[in-house]
Amino acid sequence: MTNSSDPGAAGKPASNFLRHIVERDLAEGTYAQRHFAGSPGDAAHHAAGPLDAAKIRTRFPPEPNGYLHIGHAKSITLNFGLAAEYGGVCHMRFDDTNPEKEEQEYVDSILDAVQWLGFDWHANGVDHLYYASNYFDFMYRAAEALIAAGHAYVDEQSPDEMRANRGDFNTPGTNSPYRSRTPAENLVRFREMRDGKLADGAAVLRAKIDMASPNINMRDPALYRIKRATHHNTGDTWCIYPMYTYAHPIEDALEQVTHSICTLEFEDQRPFYDWLLDTLAALGLLAQPRPHQYEFARLNVTYVITSKRKLKALVDEKIVDGWDDPRMPTIVGLRRRGYTPEAIRLMCERAGTSKAGGWTDYGALDAALRDDLEGKAARAMAVIDPVKLKLTNWAEVFGSETHREPCHAPAHPHLPELGTRSFGLGPEVWIERDDFAEVPPKGFFRLFLGNKVRLKYGCVIECTGCEKDANGTISAVTATVVPDTKSGTPGADAVKVKGTITWVGVHDALRAELRIYDRLFTDPQPDAGGKDFKASLNPNSKRVMTGYLEPSLANAKPDDKFQFERHGYFVADRIDHAAGAPVLSRIASLKDTWAK
Ligand code: ATP
Ligand code: MG
Repeated sequence: MTNSSDPGAAGKPASNFLRHIVERDLAEGTYAQRHFAGSPGDAAHHAAGPLDAAKIRTRFPPEPNGYLHIGHAKSITLNFGLAAEYGGVCHMRFDDTNPEKEEQEYVDSILDAVQWLGFDWHANGVDHLYYASNYFDFMYRAAEALIAAGHAYVDEQSPDEMRANRGDFNTPGTNSPYRSRTPAENLVRFREMRDGKLADGAAVLRAKIDMASPNINMRDPALYRIKRATHHNTGDTWCIYPMYTYAHPIEDALEQVTHSICTLEFEDQRPFYDWLLDTLAALGLLAQPRPHQYEFARLNVTYVITSKRKLKALVDEKIVDGWDDPRMPTIVGLRRRGYTPEAIRLMCERAGTSKAGGWTDYGALDAALRDDLEGKAARAMAVIDPVKLKLTNWAEVFGSETHREPCHAPAHPHLPELGTRSFGLGPEVWIERDDFAEVPPKGFFRLFLGNKVRLKYGCVIECTGCEKDANGTISAVTATVVPDTKSGTPGADAVKVKGTITWVGVHDALRAELRIYDRLFTDPQPDAGGKDFKASLNPNSKRVMTGYLEPSLANAKPDDKFQFERHGYFVADRIDHAAGAPVLSRIASLKDTWAK
C-alpha cells in the first residue's frame, strides 16, 4: 500500500519517469534553441530575446482559492526540485483566471508556504512570479485568431442542448447548428460577447475540433464563457473569461515552460493541450518548441484528507482550531506542528513520482522528521504526566534538605558544540506517573516496591512505596537514594539497575503546557469512496497536559525543536509559546506508531 522509493545511500535522488523525460530532452537538445525574452510573451516577444539560459522551465500553478496542503508540497518539491536539479527555473504562477474564488489572503499564504519549504522563484536576477490574469489580453487575441482561422465558433445552444449533443462514451456527439457559422459571423458575435451584449450563459466560444472524437474533451470544448464578475486583478474589464483548459496551456506557452507537470486527472486533456498549442504556434502566435504536459499520480497520505472543501468544513465547524491547527495537513498546519521543510521535502522525495499512484503512510512523514531532527535537535528531559517522587533519605545522604546535587548532560550526544545542559537533583522530583506500578506487570523494570532504578544523569534510587490521597489516587511515590551512585562519579556503576527513568527537579522545573497530538482520523482513508470523513474523527487527537521541563528550556523560542528523552520530538508553539509560559507540542514520537 505504501509506495516508496528511497533515495540511494549516497543521498542521490531515485530516478523516475519525469527525470528520464527531462534527461532525454536535455540529451536530444529538444529545447536548446529556445529563446526567452526575460518575461512572458508571444512568439515575436521571445524571438527578439536571447537564447534561454535556463535549460528547462517548470511551474507551480496554484489557484489562489485556499491554503496549500501536503499534496501541493509534492507538486512544489517536484517542480522546483526538477528545475534546480537540471539547471532550470521554476515559475511561481497564480492560476487566477476564475474571477469568483480568489483572494489576496490565499496569494500571501501560498507565497509564504513555497518560500518556507525552501524554494525561490527568483533566478538570474529575474522575479518569475506570474499571474495568469495578466494574460487575458493575449488569450482574447488568440481566441480571435482561432476564429479567423476557422478553429472556433460561438455556440448559442442552451447548456442542456450542449450537454445532450456532446454524446457520451458510447455515442458520438452531434454538431451544433451554430457550428457552420462563418469566421466573420463568429468574430462579430464573439465581440458582442466581450462587449456585454449577451447575457451570462447565453453563448460560449468553442473550439471546432471533432464532435465524434472518442475523447470527449476533444468534442469542441468551450474556450470562453460569459460571466459578469469582478476580477481581483482586472476588475470589470472583462465579462468573458477563459476556461481553465484553454487558459492553462497558453499560460505555459507564454512563459516558455518546457515541462508542464500535472496530476493524472488531466491526462485526458493532453490531446487538447497539444491541439491548442500546435494550432496557435502554427498561426505564429506562440513560440516553438512548445511546452509538453506530463502527468503523475497525486500524493495520497493515509489518515489525511486534502480536499479544500472538506478542510474548510473542519475549520468552519470548529473541529480543529483553524487552518494552522497542528493536526491539519495544510502547510501552515504542518509548520505549526513542527514538521521541518527538510522533513516534508524528504517525505515527498521518498514517496516517489510515478503514474501508478497509491498511498503513502503518514508514518513516512514522521520518519522523515526523525531523520532530519535526530542529528540536530537538542535533547532535554520533560515529564508529561507528572507525579511527585520523594527521596526520603535526602538529608541523611547529602547533609541537608536544601542541598542540590548538580547534574549535567550533553545537549546532543554527537554535537559537543551544542554544549552542556545543567540541572539539579533535590529531595523532590517529577517523574512520569506510569513509571511507577503498585503491581508491576511482567517485564516492568521501573519503579515498584523494592526495585532500584537510575534517575537519568543522577543517582540510583530504591522504591519504598507510594502515598495516596483520600480518593485512593497515588499522590506521591517514595524512594531512598543509594549513596555514591551519581552518574559520572567513580563507583557509579557498582549498583546494577535494569531501568533508567527521566525526571525533572521540583525546585528547578519549568511548568509547561504540553499538547499531545495524534492522528485526526481513525480511518486510514477517511474520505475514500465518498465516505463521511466526520464519522471517523479521533476524539483523542488533541490532549493538553500540564507537565514539567528541565531548566535548559528556559530560553526556548517559538519554533525551537527538541527531543524530549523517551517522549519524542517537541516544538515550542509558534503562536502560543512565551518565555515564562512555555507551550510545546509533540511533533512525533520516537518510534513509528502509525502503522499499527
Ligand atoms: P485540491 O483539489 O486538492 O484542493 P487543486 O488541484 O484544486 O487541489 P491547485 O491550486 O489547482 O489545487 O493545485 C496546484 C498544483 O498542485 C496543481 O498542479 C495540482 O495538480 C497540484 N496538486 C494538488 N494536489 C496534489 C496532490 N495531492 N499531489 C500532487 N500534486 C497536487
Ligand atoms: Mg485545481
